[in-house]
Amino acid sequence: MTLFVDQTGQLGGAELCLADVASGRADSRVLLFSDGPFADLLRERNVPVEILPLKGSAARVTKQAGPAALLASVPGLTAHLAALSRRMKEADVVYLNTAKALVHGAAANLIARRPLVFHLHDLPNREHFSRANLAILMAAASRVDLVIANSQAVADEYGKAGGRTSVAVVPNGFDPARYANIPAEAIASVSSEWNPHRRPVVSIFGRIARWKGQHVLIEAARQIPEATFRIIGEPLFTDDDRAYARELQTLAQPMGDRVQFLGFRTDIPVLMAASDIVVHCSTAPEPFGRVLVEAMLSGKPVIAADAGGPREIVKEGVTGFLTPPGDVNTLADALRKVLADAALRERMGQAGRERAERRFSLSAVRQKTNTLLDRLSRKA
Ligand code: UDP
Repeated sequence: MTLFVDQTGQLGGAELCLADVASGRADSRVLLFSDGPFADLLRERNVPVEILPLKGSAARVTKQAGPAALLASVPGLTAHLAALSRRMKEADVVYLNTAKALVHGAAANLIARRPLVFHLHDLPNREHFSRANLAILMAAASRVDLVIANSQAVADEYGKAGGRTSVAVVPNGFDPARYANIPAEAIASVSSEWNPHRRPVVSIFGRIARWKGQHVLIEAARQIPEATFRIIGEPLFTDDDRAYARELQTLAQPMGDRVQFLGFRTDIPVLMAASDIVVHCSTAPEPFGRVLVEAMLSGKPVIAADAGGPREIVKEGVTGFLTPPGDVNTLADALRKVLADAALRERMGQAGRERAERRFSLSAVRQKTNTLLDRLSRKA
């Protein structure tokens, strides 16, 4: 049995990736530290899922937590770690999918003693983690048998942070069929609901968080009065994410219905098909960037922040453009250029689809992951 462990019941990119990997393996079981839409998705896909709730201050530790918050979480942890190690003992290999799952899993493994894989979906640096959390993450990662990095950028950053465990780079995989041949009626229904004036549509997809940079797109929107801008996603994790979401509403208010907030959606392929351009403008380097591959599979040109994983996904000038993170004017220039040229949009969209199908196929990713897991798997 392969035991997958993830801290959250929310649907972030790391969780969507895990759902695809776990449902592509015959002997998967998933353990989450809280219930929610991610658990529902796993149940829908018939992947056995168990919730082992984290209680009290241990549940509130974030990537930015300082030493005091980390220490306060210790008393609540003991029972949790004991239960986790009991589940881990039954597994042939344990796949830890998030930072908190890694730290708890590595500690529980002092007793369980199973082969461990850590799927690193984050850039392990001070832009994404507090100093204390980064030190704990790196110490825990040194206790696993294999680190899976979702991009070369993440693998390099892990090495720079002093990581010595062997690393395999495995990108996220996607089923191209989900993004192809979207029914015209579905697209028309989105357009009649959200775009009665039939303006060109520029969309950004992803959870709302300060470093995801949705404000950069709203600022660029001021310079492009002829287009509608759609923000798809919700704040998922922290109080600061929720405060940022309110700031975005205030920033966008003077533009009225030209800037639209659609919240969290499960019909991403339809919304992508109903867009002319997809933008990604994270202000800190993105570890991977699932939304970019999804946009390319949808045949859309992509304008992305030139840092981290997106550099491995977008081919500059061919499938879209890379612009400096946080640079509103260059983003607006690129948007004007692509909006003004239908042939360029078509060409970039087609090139993007071909590149994404070649490099990010779900079946290839499942096969590679299964091979890595089979190699480590040891009967309990
Ligand atoms: N997503 C979604 N609904 C939304 C917004 C985003 O299903 O309303 C999905 C999106 O399609 C993508 C994932 O969430 O697959 C986000 O992954 P990404 O790597 O872009 O960012 P992360 O959340 O991992 O930082």
